[in-house]
This record gives sequence, C-alpha cells and structure tokens, in this order.
Amino acid sequence: MELYPEILKVLRNLLEKSHNAHWVNWIDEDMEQWNKFKSTNHHLSAYGGMGSINDLWVGGNDLNGIWEDEIFDKSKALAYSLAQNKGIGSSELVAFSNQPNGKEIEGWRCLECGYSEISQNGIESYIAKKFVPYILKEKIENQELASITEINDLRNLEKVVMNRNQVISTIKNSEIVCTEKIDKWEKPCPKCTFKNKAVYRWDFIENSELNEITPSENNLKIKKDKKTPPNTLYKKLLAFFNL
Ligand SMILES: [Zn+2]
Repeated sequence: MELYPEILKVLRNLLEKSHNAHWVNWIDEDMEQWNKFKSTNHHLSAYGGMGSINDLWVGGNDLNGIWEDEIFDKSKALAYSLAQNKGIGSSELVAFSNQPNGKEIEGWRCLECGYSEISQNGIESYIAKKFVPYILKEKIENQELASITEINDLRNLEKVVMNRNQVISTIKNSEIVCTEKIDKWEKPCPKCTFKNKAVYRWDFIENSELNEITPSENNLKIKKDKKTPPNTLYKKLLAFFNL
C-alpha cells in the first residue's frame, strides 16, 4: 500500500464533508501530481503562510467535529512528513503515534473564588487528542484507513468509551463542575458573581486504584489559593474567646 495517496484520500474525505471546495481541488491536484510524476511539491506548498491548510478547521460544532478536526490535523502532519520523505518506516509511525497533540483537559476557572467548569467539549477534545494518533496507526497497519472518517464508530470503541467514562466520573467526584456546553465567556462566575474567568488546564492521572484530576503546571494563580490563613486564624480567635 502506498501510504501517501491513502492519507491524501483521508484529507480529501474530511474536506469534502466540510464542504471546502478550494482544498478538495487542491488535494485532487496533489493526487494527480503523485500519480503522474510521483511529485509531492504541490502538496508541500499547501503549508505555511496566511490562509494555508494549517489554519483550517474542518469539523462541525458538535462532538464529532472535534474528532474530525483532530483526524485532519494528525493526517496532515503525516501527509507532510510523507511528502517530504517520500515514505515512512514503521518505526517512524510508532514514534508518530506516541505524540498526541495535548495531554491536558481544558476548561475554565474563576480566578477570584476558584470555581471550575469543564464542558463535554473539553472532555471530548482531550479524548480525541489522546486516541486519534493510536487509531490512525492501527488503521494504517490493518489497511483500514478509509474507515477512519466513520467518527461514530471511533467514538464508540470500547477503550474510548471506558476512558471517557473514567474521566467524567473523576471530574464528578472532584469539585469541578461538569457542564454540557461552555457558558458564554462574558457571563459572571455563578459562585461569586465576579467576571474574572480564565482558561484552565488539568491533568488526568490514571492510577490503578484511584484516578485523579489535578491542575496542570503553568495555570494562572487563583486569588483564593493563598492558603487562607487569615480565616483559620480568625476561627481560632473566635474559638479562644468562645464566640
Ligand atoms: Zn468565582
């Protein structure tokens, strides 16, 4: 199997699904250049610069759209690498599948009081980023690449469903509120009514006994996180005076 034209087909399929005629035509030209001259120059010229294929979002606004865009992104990276090297070995493919785009779950947090929300989209995005590289590798190895755009099948794979459920139950057991959609950004915090929200990221740590969700490094600081010593001191004073 020639992998390069197969990956081009995946890109083309996703572009067609999202009604992007300009880039569908572009990929058609890539295929022709490959079939006639084994040339990848036209495809390589799609990357870089304003309005390039790099800036493209192909998925819809639903949860499937998150997967479509993730598959598009990873397939693009692979197509680019193939176009540059005119082929890819199995060891490169393994390395490729070990590089997911992100390892954190994204939501938002109120910087005043620490109230936190993660939406269904945030969870699905984490799951898609985690599984797409492996699924892509598996599909290539099993020569089933054409079926990678059957998004519902991918989202319902046993290991995907299991991991998603683990993430959801871990969030529900934490102080983070799990929401269906992201609230309008300009809306005040539902807990303290301040308007001081920030994007916030968490790590999902899988332990055999107990999974955990903990704040990632490099998040903005929460004002309330200053250990609240004045409050405890105040309480001690109250206790001392029997108030
Ligand atoms: Zn708040």
